[in-house]
Amino acid sequence: MRLWYNAFAMDIKKFVRPNIRSLTPYKAKEIPCKVKLDANESPYVFKDALKVLKSIKTNRYPDPEAKTLKKLISKYFTVSPESILQGNGSDELIYYLITTFGGPVLYPIPTFSMFGIITQAIGEKRIEIPLDEEFDLDMDRILKAIRKERPKLIFLSSPNNPTGNCFSSERILKIIDVTSALSTQHSARSIVVVDEAYQPFSSRKGFLPLLKDYENLVIMRTLSKIGLAGLRVGFLIADEEIIREVNKVRLPFNLNSLSQKVAIEVLKERKTMQSHIRSIASERRRLFQEMTKISSIRPYPSEANFILFRVKDSDRVYKDLLSKGVLVRNMKGVVDGCLRVTVGTPEENKTFLKVLNKEVM
Ligand SMILES: *Cc1c(COP(=O)(O)O)cnc(C)c1O
Repeated sequence: MRLWYNAFAMDIKKFVRPNIRSLTPYKAKEIPCKVKLDANESPYVFKDALKVLKSIKTNRYPDPEAKTLKKLISKYFTVSPESILQGNGSDELIYYLITTFGGPVLYPIPTFSMFGIITQAIGEKRIEIPLDEEFDLDMDRILKAIRKERPKLIFLSSPNNPTGNCFSSERILKIIDVTSALSTQHSARSIVVVDEAYQPFSSRKGFLPLLKDYENLVIMRTLSKIGLAGLRVGFLIADEEIIREVNKVRLPFNLNSLSQKVAIEVLKERKTMQSHIRSIASERRRLFQEMTKISSIRPYPSEANFILFRVKDSDRVYKDLLSKGVLVRNMKGVVDGCLRVTVGTPEENKTFLKVLNKEVM
């Protein structure tokens, strides 16, 4: 028995599907530090929303349909509850979309890493198209790839993580338009997913108003960047027919009771949420201004709650910041030579700027 077990253990890699064998687990570094500006979280906690914890029945399953939460979201965005699908974060919804529609999956790079990781985990083909010099969509290459490879799914994060900019609306629209007109036969079309995780911080219009015109458009939103990263609540908004299909692969109790209840409370505090968002957006503008004054770094304009910036020696600056208690994200291997800083409270941003000024001088 033992021998068999050992032999099996030694060979376990051979039992794993080849696409999983070559994956590396996502590492979210848990480095304790005073000022945490590495994960695009909100610096603001919704304490009052936790008062509902007492009413949670730990012995009962959560509402599998998340009815109350979806009703609130549907009012917020003036869409029908049937056009919403709830997820355990939008990460889970990316999984569901690729499980439902399959590949090839097309997305620009650099972008949110989960598009690629999940596509590979499911064993579908990835089509990665580098962004142009302005971090915008390279239309020639994207349109060519659409014609040639007929991707089933296209993921566009706008504002984009980690670059921070919105892609040109005309270009996104062109992609939606071209793919929706491809053929009346569903199989030749692509579903275009606009990932609007950072839309609340953006000064540009989002793509929700276009939903009524395009059957192949999916909008993805999350509460993670606006104060609820710990609860894992994301959702899709799309044509009811798309939602019905994706709902078939959804695990019945994917959104737990606690997350549902607290999210409901937070969505009722719309004013508080909006004031947090406004303060983060205005701090982002101030932070950007201050960063442009430092001659040895180059910050890139952002519509999100973070700023990507280029430094002379990114590894050194990263380590120096960390040694002073400020954690940012080193974008090595994604955008070489760059760091990404999340907008924090005014106090946190001040500390970051003070340390940065000292380190790069
Ligand atoms: C953070 C992020 C997400 C993930 O959101 P969760 O709802 O926390 O899973 C999705 N898309 C982009 C572009 C992100 O940066």
